[in-house]
Amino acid sequence: MIEARCPKCGKKAQVDDEMANVRCNFCNYSATYDEYIELMKEKALMMADDFQMSWDKNPF
Ligand SMILES: [Zn+2]
Repeated sequence: MIEARCPKCGKKAQVDDEMANVRCNFCNYSATYDEYIELMKEKALMMADDFQMSWDKNPF
């Protein structure tokens, strides 16, 4: 069983053996693996934006 980070609650979600679906037992999030990857890409982009913003506020 492969573990992934749940995009909804941030806890450990599980990827099934076929790499087809992601399911979180904590918040009942579930999606196809493709949907999960797309969501994590978007989150990564948003986090990069946040990082850029906080960097601009604290220029060292
Ligand atoms: Zn979750």
